[in-house]
Amino acid sequence: MSSNAPKKKLEGRVALITGASRGIGRTIALLFAREGAKLALVARNAEMLEALAVEARALSGTDVITGAFDVKDAAKVAEFTDKTLDTLGRLDILVNNAGVTRDGLFMRMSEADWDEVLDTNLKSAFLFMRAAAKPMMKQRSGRIINIASIIGLIGNAGQANYAASKAGLIALAKSAAKELGSRNILVNAIAPGFIETDMTHALGEDQRAAILKTIPAGRFGKPEDVAQAALYLASDESAFVTGQVITVDGGMVM
Ligand code: NAP
Repeated sequence: MSSNAPKKKLEGRVALITGASRGIGRTIALLFAREGAKLALVARNAEMLEALAVEARALSGTDVITGAFDVKDAAKVAEFTDKTLDTLGRLDILVNNAGVTRDGLFMRMSEADWDEVLDTNLKSAFLFMRAAAKPMMKQRSGRIINIASIIGLIGNAGQANYAASKAGLIALAKSAAKELGSRNILVNAIAPGFIETDMTHALGEDQRAAILKTIPAGRFGKPEDVAQAALYLASDESAFVTGQVITVDGGMVM
């Protein structure tokens, strides 16, 4: 490589990313690989994770490990965090991105739908943060990025469970930022707006047209838009930023 090549922003750092098999998490993984990070990738679908690992290694020659398991499983979370430390040597960046929806009016919502969303979206982040904080404290450095949602800021009819989980991710980030700040561990959240992924493809044309009218930027977001914000929060450029929420929504909520 030419000596004039720009310095990679995450050279040698180890990033653990949940929900990496598709959508926003996959895009964050590929951007971080391009910026020199070693990757520990988590989702349930083993084939999609392995395909991503092959792509990331081909892109940058970086080290990649994968863990195909449910992020609700506390034992697996601890086990995979240990495996990341054993195999890749350290843990610098944690991105809590795995997320699901189970929409419905809260008055008719089952406990199962409440628990599935709260446990997948919020409890998993707590489990990974608890596991990651120890090695990050020893290293005296770390970055934790929780992928929340604008719905966690403004609420949404039919998404009480999802909104509560996303507001929880923001409050969790702020609390951890206060507990870990003196150890040089920075904790922030990203609140994406409407981003084109599997999660939003289920919407009908009428719904999409109505949403588009509420976005000042005049377009839906791309996974790359969120990945660039995650790169900023993972890189040296955000060294004095902690406990914040970066909204990536084309101006939908302001
Ligand atoms: P997506 O395409 O549906 O991807 C979700 C990811 O989470 C997949 O990799 C999925 O992998 C993983 N996942 C789900 N449940 C899991 C579980 N129990 N254990 C392990 N992994 C699990 O969603 P996306 O749009 O990329 O969203 C990513 C994050 O951004 C989510 O937290 C979402 O709430 C948030 N967000 C998205 C938007 C949007 O407009 N798309 C807006 C705001 C916020 P497997 O199925 O392989 O397990």
